[in-house]
Amino acid sequence: MAVNAEKIQTPYFVIDEPILQRYYDMLAESLSSNWENYLIGYSFKTNSLPWLVSYVKEKGAYAEVVSEDEYSLAKYMGYRDDEIIYNGPYKGKQSFCDVLLAGGIINLDSMQEIGWLTEFAAAHPDRTFEVGIRANFNLEKMCPGETTMGEVSGRFGFCYETGRFADALNILRALPNVSVTGLHLHSSSKSRSVNVFRSIAQMACQLKTEFDLTLKYIDLGGGYCGGMKGRPEYPDYFPVVAEELHKCFTPDKTRLVVEPGISLISKCTTFVTKVFDTRDIKGTRYVMTDGSRFNIDPTMIKSSHLFHVEYSTDHDAVRPVISQQIISGFTCMEVDRLFTYTNQHELVPGDRIIYENVGGYTMSLNPLFIQYFPAVYVQNGDHMRMVRKKWTPAEYVQGNEWNL
Ligand SMILES: *Cc1c(COP(=O)(O)O)cnc(C)c1O
Repeated sequence: MAVNAEKIQTPYFVIDEPILQRYYDMLAESLSSNWENYLIGYSFKTNSLPWLVSYVKEKGAYAEVVSEDEYSLAKYMGYRDDEIIYNGPYKGKQSFCDVLLAGGIINLDSMQEIGWLTEFAAAHPDRTFEVGIRANFNLEKMCPGETTMGEVSGRFGFCYETGRFADALNILRALPNVSVTGLHLHSSSKSRSVNVFRSIAQMACQLKTEFDLTLKYIDLGGGYCGGMKGRPEYPDYFPVVAEELHKCFTPDKTRLVVEPGISLISKCTTFVTKVFDTRDIKGTRYVMTDGSRFNIDPTMIKSSHLFHVEYSTDHDAVRPVISQQIISGFTCMEVDRLFTYTNQHELVPGDRIIYENVGGYTMSLNPLFIQYFPAVYVQNGDHMRMVRKKWTPAEYVQGNEWNL
């Protein structure tokens, strides 16, 4: 459906398709020119909007999923079992076996999964199975101050330093029809720096050498920057990663797997909100908007937002400058405040505030609190297409029963 942008009811998300395309192409180009044997697995949890997961599928990406529900969504959207990268600590046993059997990518995260694999491999003695293993290692030591967990350890995968990684490998190597052909090294960092990925690539070399691994793939995971001023972009990471990997691997034998989420969809996504009321309380100006902090900062961690304002009428000459306007959401929670607009022209009902870089960990974490999910549009030049209707009670009540 084509829609006229001015008439669209706020609030809504917009995905700019040409920008998304540019980022996808930038990633693919940067990978192919540095390590021609590569695979992109799109991180469903970052934003699993059906249009988006179907868009990246069309481009050839696999589905990187971390739960049975995400796996089921991938299947629902047409991904085959051999187009799944199955990660994380909360896989389902049935889907684990389905992906394993089809030759999709399984990155083992726990002893429980090794148990499933042992049982399944024994039940299929005529088949051989290939798996990856997720290494938990001290990235903080290699990149002080840069990791999310800091000095405290992360909780995913098998810990290299305590010997659990070696233990897991020994168990797997004793299984006659299983081989460990992949290494998963996703680590979350605060910095998302090029140096973090250099260290991850170095770790791949270290593990390969120390444990004499023959790897068909190295999965670097996600966690890249994309679309942020002054921060790295895809072409900054992969020459460095390739330089390190070339010390121990070659592209003809080992594939480079990446699992981008936020870096791919940040820049292309905006959230459009409108002022619906203003009020002065004890000398403070509150600007009430129909977008909420829960829409674009659901985990309440952002200290600032990228945004621009579209005044509904001429403001330069006519509107007074106000020292502080507190921009708030529509919900009834006091914490639902987005930012303070300092020394700017007065905002009035009808003005629009448009937040930028809001593609990741927003839609996928939105609550159904007070208002239902907003609409999502895909923009292509001046053409707007609605790809998700605003939720109404019809969507909210689906699957419920209330006839007493
Ligand atoms: C979250 C996650 C990603 C994506 O991370 P981004 O920061 O959104 O790029 C990729 N792989 C795994 C295993 C993850 O947990």
